[in-house]
Amino acid sequence: MSVGCVQKLLTSLYRWQCLNISTRRMYSARPRLSRPRPILAWERRSHRGRATWSEEASCVEMNKQQREELAAAYQALDSFGLSEGINNHLSTKAPARNGKGEVILLFPYGLHWNEVTASRLVGVDMASGTVVEGVGEPETTAVNIHCQVYQEALKSGSSINTVFHLHTPYCSALSCLQDPTLRMIHQNSARFFGDVAYDDGYEGLAMDTEEGCRLARIMSGKSVLIMGNHGILVTDKTVARAFNTTYYLERAAMVQILAMSSGAKLSELDDAGASLVRTQIMANYTKDSTLYFEAIKRLIRIKSPYDYTE
Ligand SMILES: [Zn+2]
Repeated sequence: MSVGCVQKLLTSLYRWQCLNISTRRMYSARPRLSRPRPILAWERRSHRGRATWSEEASCVEMNKQQREELAAAYQALDSFGLSEGINNHLSTKAPARNGKGEVILLFPYGLHWNEVTASRLVGVDMASGTVVEGVGEPETTAVNIHCQVYQEALKSGSSINTVFHLHTPYCSALSCLQDPTLRMIHQNSARFFGDVAYDDGYEGLAMDTEEGCRLARIMSGKSVLIMGNHGILVTDKTVARAFNTTYYLERAAMVQILAMSSGAKLSELDDAGASLVRTQIMANYTKDSTLYFEAIKRLIRIKSPYDYTE
């Protein structure tokens, strides 16, 4: 074997190893919130400003995987009755199909959540808010909220890749109370101990980017924002984790609203008890989220008339 061939082989091996390490980092179960966010594979390519053919193929595949994950989340949350009209929005980051940087995947305005499939999602450029992949335009408020939340997270070194905004019934009811605090009264509540931020400054629809910036600043590293008189924002590293968080947040709010509606005094866990529950649940959170989401995906593939993978 010639020296040139050996050099080519070593370069290929190095590039393959880099891609694998980056993918493992992105989907790692270990929380890294306290450390600087790692530079993802597609971002590294973006910094170089070009992509090789094999890198571009890898981006197309990862883009497709993220599209399928997000489309499944739209359909699954709709099947739980947690969507509202053709509004509210879920998004996730993905490597751009062309290998240059990354896009924010969102659903186009006008589509019902149950109609969302992988190919129907659009890719939005995070900096400009313009559509660079797919057909259609996302709702203005979706672009203004999601792009700003991702950008603020990047500035603070947070490793979020997914943002959900919903008006789920029980969380919305909680957001309408003068004191919307999620009380530590149940195991489902305690999993959110210390991880919820509250916004009491609702000033209308997010028709400009400032509202998105304001919401992101209030979240300040928390996974959940209860948006006063409005709904919720959920952020996380993966679609599966954000899906799990959204589901259990709504369940926790439901328990609280039902318990409060009894008129009886609430029995609250102390901080130590709530903290212990959170630690126990978060130790297995990625695995739990993934297994639950996979189970739900199997169900919606049977029930939904639209195959989310298409
Ligand atoms: Zn909203």
